[in-house]
Amino acid sequence: MKPAAFTYHRARDVDGATRLLAELGDEAKLIAGGQSLVAMMNFRLARPRHLIDIGGIDGLDHLRTDAGGALRVGALATHHAVHTAPPDRLGPGHAVIRDAMRWIGHLPIRTRGTVGGSLAHADATAEWCLLATLLDAELTARGPGGRRRIAARDFFHGYYTTALEPHEMLTEITFPRPAPHAALTEFAERQGDFATVSAAVSLDLADDGALRGGRVALGGVDALPVRVPEAEEALGSGAPPGPETFARCAEAAAAAIDPPDDANGSAHYRRTLTRTLVTRACEEAMAR
Ligand SMILES: Cc1cc2nc3c(=O)[nH]c(=O)nc-3n(C[C@H](O)[C@H](O)[C@H](O)COP(=O)(O)OP(=O)(O)OC[C@H]3O[C@@H](n4cnc5c(N)ncnc54)[C@H](O)[C@@H]3O)c2cc1C
Repeated sequence: MKPAAFTYHRARDVDGATRLLAELGDEAKLIAGGQSLVAMMNFRLARPRHLIDIGGIDGLDHLRTDAGGALRVGALATHHAVHTAPPDRLGPGHAVIRDAMRWIGHLPIRTRGTVGGSLAHADATAEWCLLATLLDAELTARGPGGRRRIAARDFFHGYYTTALEPHEMLTEITFPRPAPHAALTEFAERQGDFATVSAAVSLDLADDGALRGGRVALGGVDALPVRVPEAEEALGSGAPPGPETFARCAEAAAAAIDPPDDANGSAHYRRTLTRTLVTRACEEAMAR
């Protein structure tokens, strides 16, 4: 199918994009890589009268680490640029982010799709949304009123819904701390599909290898990516970092969720996947 007619605008900078958003109102949408929006327009699920192309704005595709080890990713960085970035660009402890890119669609999608587009689109199984939730990312948005920072835990409101105001644009995502022992894994019916369930784990290990705590985040089990405190308790200080602890963590995660029952999988199936994927993510995080 073809999209409904629209007027194309090309923004030269962030101020220009947000000004156009404010001027054109509800009938306007930003377009970055177009890998989600164009599909929705072709299916007539979205019918913006005005498209504001932000793909040509300079200086928003950066990847850099600051002195404290935080990783800053420009909203226009593509999934492929992150996937293929040399290790020193991401800094030590952010390999989980690079490795997670391989799960996103196929090469052409990763080559055009952007980090900001993925987070703004807010699919509950998107890898960037899960990473942002696991790693306490901070999202920077610019609008006519200026700049504001939004914690990932406050950003996702539900299926395809975020805290962004209609005239705001994401400009940067910050991952505040390295996570050297972290992994993301998932299951999809076919390679390149959105995940049925995805699991991400970050382990906090002392120098002697003892477990000091950990984080567990899941995608595909709720309307937004979720942290699972019940599973994180199993990774508490002093627990031996091995199969029994990881199995307890996975069991707690499966018990804590109330996943949807839909055409992509029953609730029981998603719970079973959760058990397997959390165990696998713990093992992969430990092996890093
Ligand atoms: C076949 C297929 C398979 C895919 N598989 C996966 C997958 O496995 N995992 C996954 O995560 N994704 C997947 N995707 C989606 C892909 O990752 C997209 O790149 C991403 O969701 C959107 O990024 P984009 O730059 O293309 O955004 P666009 O499609 O251009 O825009 C998406 C939405 O975000 C808004 N937007 C874009 N940029 C900004 C910004 N900077 N600030 C505010 N709003 C903005 C737009 O207005 C629009 O509402 C798949 C896509 C396809 C077509």
